Amino acid sequence: MSKINSIGILTSGGDAPGMNAAIRAVTRAGIFAGFRVFGIFRGYKGLILDEIEEFSTQNVSNIIQRGGTILKTARCKEFTTPEGRQCAYDVMKRRGIDALVVIGGDGSLTGARIFGNEFSLPIIGLPGTIDNDLYGTDSTIGYDTALNTIMECVDKIRDTATSHERLFFVEVMGRDAGFLALNGALASGAEAAIIPEISMQVDQLGELIGHGFRKSKNSSIVLVAESPVTGGAMGLAQRVKEEYPDYDVRVTILGHLQRGGSPTAFDRILASRMGAAAIDALLDDQRNVMIGIRNDEIVYVPFTKAIKNEKRVNPQKLEVLRRLSI
Ligand code: ADP
Repeated sequence: MSKINSIGILTSGGDAPGMNAAIRAVTRAGIFAGFRVFGIFRGYKGLILDEIEEFSTQNVSNIIQRGGTILKTARCKEFTTPEGRQCAYDVMKRRGIDALVVIGGDGSLTGARIFGNEFSLPIIGLPGTIDNDLYGTDSTIGYDTALNTIMECVDKIRDTATSHERLFFVEVMGRDAGFLALNGALASGAEAAIIPEISMQVDQLGELIGHGFRKSKNSSIVLVAESPVTGGAMGLAQRVKEEYPDYDVRVTILGHLQRGGSPTAFDRILASRMGAAAIDALLDDQRNVMIGIRNDEIVYVPFTKAIKNEKRVNPQKLEVLRRLSI
């Protein structure tokens, strides 16, 4: 395998708090290892368009605490075509960039896998997504921060829900994964979580809520993962309203505020460790792997495993939520 002298780093797809901490770690650990480090702006789009700048340690000063990504992020249709990826490869060759570190979610790592195989490039992925939906890692960068944001929001919603004796459906992100909804519900003491992995009928939900009200609870909060499978908070609220007209139902969609904010200590530490591990992986001749964390240990997860496999929510948590909502 040819020696690596220069690496490129990019953030792609949905942004997540902690991406900056990861950029800082990759840059600093890379320079520490003797690599030249290039920041690639706007994900794969910037790679194709050659929006690239060499980074020194100063470029990543004072960013560990900042949400978003200083490298910006983008979605790039062209990169899904062989012609687009050829352009990206040509730019790398011209710039003398030998390897890439890609920070992103499922889609970004799928692109990384295809690109790495096509051109036999060393590519390391870091799981950067608030959804926590990548297999082989206990947590993804940004997930803990988003979870804490949800918890703080639901605490506030509970104040008004209690005052008005209302039933609130709070919609959180997680198209295909219920981690945010389920753990957000547990953390905020919500009555239920509606997640794409497990179907719950409207009458089951009505019964559960009715049970709470009969026991003199004066408000209820249900977290709903935004997904076509759950129908989202609006759809669910509408159905509950039709079947239980006595309930005073309200909906809050947390939306993009879940992506913002200063990363938690957990996410900063995770991103720092994963960023340094990406450089270790390159030094170790690894390629086409995602850095993961399991039981507090860094692991290398082949892209094929990280992307294809479905990470399952822990059914014990649903059971605890059910028992504690009486
Ligand atoms: P995320 O990484 O957050 O899941 P997306 O699914 O939007 O976000 O993917 C981000 C980018 O990754 C896409 O805009 C595209 O450039 C690239 N990508 C996604 N899927 C593929 C694919 N099958 N082939 C090549 N590139 C892909």
